[in-house]
Parts: sequence; structure tokens; C-alpha cells
Amino acid sequence: MRRPHWPQRVTVVEVGPRDGLQNEPVYVPTADKIRFVDALAAAGLPVVEVTSFVNPRRVPQMADAGAVIAGIARRPGVRYSALVPNQRGLDAALTAGLDEVAIFAAASDTFSMRNIGQDVEASLATYAAVCRRADEHALRVRAYVSTAFGCPFEGEVDPRRVAEVAARLIEMGAFEVSVSDTIGIAHPGQVGPVIDAVAARVDRGRIALHFHDTRGTALANVLVGLEAGIAVFDASAGGLGGCPFAPGATGNLATEDLLYMLHGLGIDTGVSLAAVVDASLAIEPLVGHPLSSRYTQAVKATRATSAS
Ligand code: MG
Repeated sequence: MRRPHWPQRVTVVEVGPRDGLQNEPVYVPTADKIRFVDALAAAGLPVVEVTSFVNPRRVPQMADAGAVIAGIARRPGVRYSALVPNQRGLDAALTAGLDEVAIFAAASDTFSMRNIGQDVEASLATYAAVCRRADEHALRVRAYVSTAFGCPFEGEVDPRRVAEVAARLIEMGAFEVSVSDTIGIAHPGQVGPVIDAVAARVDRGRIALHFHDTRGTALANVLVGLEAGIAVFDASAGGLGGCPFAPGATGNLATEDLLYMLHGLGIDTGVSLAAVVDASLAIEPLVGHPLSSRYTQAVKATRATSAS
């Protein structure tokens, strides 16, 4: 049952092909990535983050970024995006003919240094330049603020710091900022205060939330986000990127688990849950481990039982 103050409709931003696969150690062939993206778009997901234009030596899984974008069948009305860490990434996205890119800044200096070799201030200067050039080419820019609920190196992160970085990203031209729980540490007690801090600086309609289920709190966090009037949530098909056997596993919130809860609450997403399950089950054998989506594992178990 939908409470009157919850959003009637939620936009689910599908990050599985990028945030999911880039954290999977087994290389997925380009043709299978293309099929995966096409299946997710066909399922009704309105935004698909397809790939990442990062250094292929650092992230071999994303070395075929250009080929994946060239190979997908673009559906009208679907926004296709790619992560770009710098001007070089932006050039590649422009060459690929994308009309939306994503940038990621951190709310803690140590994480930013370890991740991209720049502190937060230096990274914001880089992204300001990326935004200026993106604007010249009429490219939309979505921004992430990582470590918004805690940093693996610095521990607690001040919500005012998160709000400051979010506001700067919006000021430089990002249309939306995804407040991200990079290490899966956020709990429902934190979500309200962080959203309130960010919403004091950024219009609530420009705030998205990106949760990881590493500690089992992702859906509870989404619920608090809905209560706070947030209507855009990131999720990864199958919970890709949450490989339980890989060190550094991220534990992305699974798209299926999110859809099941939202639809159960009477919130419209425009996405076919069954079609996302099929897309996830098609990619599962290729990543070499069971996907973490509880919903999809339940579907598998039910099918196995009824088949025996
Ligand atoms: Mg993630």
C-alpha cells in the first residue's frame, strides 16, 4: 500500500552492466554484455549505465566499452550512460555517440586519492572541466558522491561534507547527484540525516540514492529514502558486483529485489520484474557464481522444485 507522501513513480537506474560487471573478476564477452544491456532496456528500465571509459589496464572488464555501446540496439526513450573519470573518458563517450555520462566524486579525501589519485578538491576541478565540455556537446552529466555514508579509510563522513560535494557537482552542471553508499555500510538511522543535509543544498528532485546490500540494509534504506521524498534509486540486475567469493565485493542492491518491494508498495516503475529476472539468469552462468539477488534465487528455487 502506497502512503500518500511516497512518490507515485520511481525511476530505477540500472547500473549492472557497469557497476556490476566492473566488479566481477570473470571477463564477460562483449556479445553477452550487449545482449544483457538490450534485455535490461527491453525490460523497461528507463536508464541503463552501459559501461565505463576507464583505463583498460586498471579495469580489463571495461576494455570493450566502445564496442558494447556500438553494439547495443538503442531503444527510444531509454537513457544510455557511461562512466567517465576524466576528459579522455569524455572524448571516448562523445565518439561513441552517447548523450549522457556519469562522473564520480568522493566525499572523503583518502578514498578519492586511492581510487583516482586526486583528492576531492582536485577531482572537482577535473569534473568541472568535464562538465564544461559535456555542456558544449549537449551531453547530460549525472554525478555520484561516493563514500557518502562512510569511508573505508576515514570512517565516518560528515553529512555536511557530502552535501558540499553534492552541491558543487550540481553547480558545475550535473542534473542529478546519486548519493552513494560505496562500501555498503549505510543503515536506516543514517539515511534521513544525510538526505536532509544534501536537500538543504540541492533540490530533492535532483537527489538519487545508491545503496549496497553488503550488510543487509539496502531495502530498509530505500524505504527511508522514499519517506524522505526521493524517487530515483540505483540498482544492479541480479545484484551483480556482489560476488561473495571476491575480495572487495561491493554488494550492489539487486534490481529485482528493489522492484519487488516497490511494486509491492504500489509504486510504479514501468519495469517488468520477470524480464529483469530473465536478463539476470542469462548472465549468471557467465560470471561464475550465484547472483546475490534474493528474489531471483527464490525464482530459481521455485522452478527447481516444480520441475522435480
Ligand atoms: Mg555500486
